[in-house]
Order: sequence, then structure tokens, then C-alpha cells
Amino acid sequence: MIMSDLYLRVADPYPLQSAAFNSLSEYYIHLSEGRLTTTRCRTCDTLYWPPRKFCPQCVGDQFEWVDLPEQGTVHAFCIQEAGVPQGFRSPLVLGVIEVAGLRIFGLISCSDPKKITLGQKVGFRPIEVSSEPGGERRFLHAFEPIEDHAV
Ligand SMILES: [Zn+2]
Repeated sequence: MIMSDLYLRVADPYPLQSAAFNSLSEYYIHLSEGRLTTTRCRTCDTLYWPPRKFCPQCVGDQFEWVDLPEQGTVHAFCIQEAGVPQGFRSPLVLGVIEVAGLRIFGLISCSDPKKITLGQKVGFRPIEVSSEPGGERRFLHAFEPIEDHAV
């Protein structure tokens, strides 16, 4: 048996994103296109984060994909220095980013975590992580301080 042919799910901290493994795979396709999206209920117009396929407000199951703004503000954050998932450097900054009234939990990529502040403006910057078992590219949503892009 050749070990490299095995997919070790237990060692993989990321969600599987292809349609074979994830009923919200369209979200990850949008990420690969550089788009931050979520779902809106077609019946009651409620916008959700994370994307859903069932509406607890009206019990509807008809949704549309909506593009979100590519900028938000830091509502909360923490700096993880130990137990960082494979593929990431320590320290890792995790934040709750407010975008269009939604609060999105995700990574904040930055060169100096000590410069992150509450209310700081951040931009959406998806990051590529390890591939699917079948080799398809895989992405996670993440944000970066706007100042890191200033010239
Ligand atoms: Zn609804």
C-alpha cells in the first residue's frame, strides 16, 4: 500500500469544499473567484452568515447568493500563539469582522498582529490552503488590514 494515495482527514483542519463533500460548495467556488458571498432567504429576505440552506425565520429553503462588500471592520479579535493549525505560522490572528451588518469569523492576515485594533478597517483577501483529496484547489475567507496594502 502506498501511503501517499491515502487522504488523512484527521490531519486536515479545513472544510472539504467540493460538491462531493459540501452542500454549500458554491460558496467556496466564489472564494476561488475572489468573491465574499453569503445567502439571502428568497421568502423573508433575511441575509445570513454563514451561508445557509434553511431559514429559521420563515422555515424557507429557497436562497440566493449575494456578494458582500470587500471591506469590513474588526469587531473582535484574538491572537493564538499555541496550537496553531498546520500550514499556519504562529501567532495566528482570528477575528470577528463586521461586514454589511454580519459578523464573520475568520483569519486576519497581517505582518504585525500587535497593530490590530478594534474598529480597524480590513479588506477581504481569501487564502489558498491544501488541496481537496481529488486535487481541486481550496480556499478560506480571510481579511487583511487595509493599511498593509497602502503604498
Ligand atoms: Zn426566510
